[in-house]
Amino acid sequence: MSDVLIAGAGGFIGGSLAVRLSDEGYSLRCVDRKPLDDWYQLVPEAENVVADLQDLDACRAAVSGAETVYDLAADMGGMGFIENNKALCMLSVLTGTHLLVAARDEGVGRFFFASSACVYAADKQISPDVTALKEEDAYPAMAEDGYGWEKLFTERMCRHFHEDFGLETRVARYHNVYGPHGTYDGGREKAPAALARKIATAVLTGDRSIEIWGDGEQTRSFMYIDDCVRGTRMITDGPYGSPVNLGSSELVSINEMVTILEDVAGIQVKRNHNLSAPQGVRGRNSDNTLIRERYGWEPSITLREGLEQTYRWIYDRLASSLPVSG
Ligand code: NAD
Repeated sequence: MSDVLIAGAGGFIGGSLAVRLSDEGYSLRCVDRKPLDDWYQLVPEAENVVADLQDLDACRAAVSGAETVYDLAADMGGMGFIENNKALCMLSVLTGTHLLVAARDEGVGRFFFASSACVYAADKQISPDVTALKEEDAYPAMAEDGYGWEKLFTERMCRHFHEDFGLETRVARYHNVYGPHGTYDGGREKAPAALARKIATAVLTGDRSIEIWGDGEQTRSFMYIDDCVRGTRMITDGPYGSPVNLGSSELVSINEMVTILEDVAGIQVKRNHNLSAPQGVRGRNSDNTLIRERYGWEPSITLREGLEQTYRWIYDRLASSLPVSG
């Protein structure tokens, strides 16, 4: 099987993709700048390399011999992280740019870039009662400050590397990915993992009070990791080079997600809304017309199913470290 580079393989999506590709028999080089002990999932059969891919020479070494490159390396996190670390998020432009240069020079067959729904214009996301975002809604551009602009810039780099150098690039705009083996504490976690952690903590400690960022009426859609990995593979192997939404179209408010998690956990919590916490845009959903047309498929794992798996995984981790209420 062809050789694959996964950049950012120590992270949530990169780790899950590595496991899937390894199961399919691909020969993998997995690269991340975190120490190996901190990788979320480690594929023992892969060539696992610790390197900072903001550096061009590190990118050349990583890409060497690869037929396919998945660029999943970025400084990212939930709203709390990206609102407070705009320059750090924008520096990921070095990773994308240097990987593209190395891929062009190495004659790589396919280059996949993980973009984000944060590229979408903010003025199209001011109401919780959203019209789902179509790919063309990214322009005229008014992306999420920092993180979203970096994604939009690298999307365009992909397009121009294809037009000018013939590199086959593929771009997916992920909408809120969640699942087991993701970040659930430390400040970079996103809403599903953060809320699952808070509710699992409430179960374990008996303290039923949890903080919710904002009034909880902000809406989003959330894609389970298995759909994300499947869609990523499909888009990378497929014929379509322009950015495609990869997200669930099941819209929920944060309050509704808390209710699902309460049901999964079998408790009711006391909700304390912190109105000064970061909340991001008011509402966002994925219009899946394009992915359905191009691939005859769209993410379909329900939030309920995905949250059950995610909650259980986070609960088990916390259960070994938290005192259980008597
Ligand atoms: P993650 O933070 O778990 O993984 C990203 C990994 O990239 C981390 O392990 C990090 O150490 C690594 N990395 C960052 N900079 C690096 C560098 N210079 N050199 C080497 N490694 C580096 O995040 P994730 O959720 O797995 O996201 C993967 C990709 O998908 C990212 O590009 C992210 O922006 C994009 N994305 C994710 C979501 C989501 O909801 N998780 C949504 C939209 C887009």
